[in-house]
Amino acid sequence: RLRPARRGRFAPSPTGDLHPGSLLAAFGSWLLARHDGAEWWVRVEDLDPPREQPGAIERQLRTLEAFGLVSDGPILRQSSRDTAYREALDRLLGSGAAFECWCSRSDLAATGGLHHACVSGPQAGRAPAVRLRIPCGESVAFDDAIQGRVAQDVGTEVGDVVLRRADGFWAYQLAVVVDDAAQAITDVVRGADLLDSTPRQILLQRALGLPTPSYAHLPLIVDAQGRKLSKSTDAVPIDDANPLPALRFAWRALGQDPAALESCTDLAGTLAAAREAFSPACIPSESVALHNTGVAIA
Ligand code: GLU
Repeated sequence: RLRPARRGRFAPSPTGDLHPGSLLAAFGSWLLARHDGAEWWVRVEDLDPPREQPGAIERQLRTLEAFGLVSDGPILRQSSRDTAYREALDRLLGSGAAFECWCSRSDLAATGGLHHACVSGPQAGRAPAVRLRIPCGESVAFDDAIQGRVAQDVGTEVGDVVLRRADGFWAYQLAVVVDDAAQAITDVVRGADLLDSTPRQILLQRALGLPTPSYAHLPLIVDAQGRKLSKSTDAVPIDDANPLPALRFAWRALGQDPAALESCTDLAGTLAAAREAFSPACIPSESVALHNTGVAIA
């Protein structure tokens, strides 16, 4: 019997240029897919126009291409997916899994900002948010290919999850679940900053009757003080004209043997050697300090 086709993806938000953290997610998800003979698709998560930088989508896609990381399928933009999100939301509202909520931030101050039960009724003239109802005291667990067993009591730790914001924008959690399923993604590989979103996404998949993909959360890159580096491109320039230094950096940050790429002088040779030498078991689960990645820090 044929094995079902596997498909990974890279799903950047266009809030700026590709940075070292997103390059790590792009290259890591590409390597894991290629290693497994899986497809690798790119999706643009442009859900939040106020946070987006003009031209960022085109620049990110150009950088991926310059780095030889090319989507196997059409590049889906979440800004074109209103109908699919609305349909999912209507199903959840219809089944009672989701509800309209007028609670404000200050309404939730007493519960640390977490929503457990509405304290506000319908407010005339104000649009509601829509939330997924999450029970407290029930743990959601999954086995992450890099981080191991992860369990979270979403109700107690996160509360009822926003699916559509009161300002009308779709929440990342809803869009990512609907699109991973619509694109038949079987392998989600992304940064560990999204590890604690995964139990929420699993609950949402269950509520919508969708399959749960397998998950692998890559280590974050941190500076010498342990602060997340992902937004800083100073230390590791992502240069479309010269992709090899940044690829070598990402390779090392993924725990791979630097010697495997040392003799490669061009992009195609580097990607082929990386594919060949890649060892998933070497990816560290803990954050990686920049000074351990061979980058010279001035
Ligand atoms: N768009 C998200 C981000 O750039 C990633 C979403 C995901 O990989 O699930 O942080």
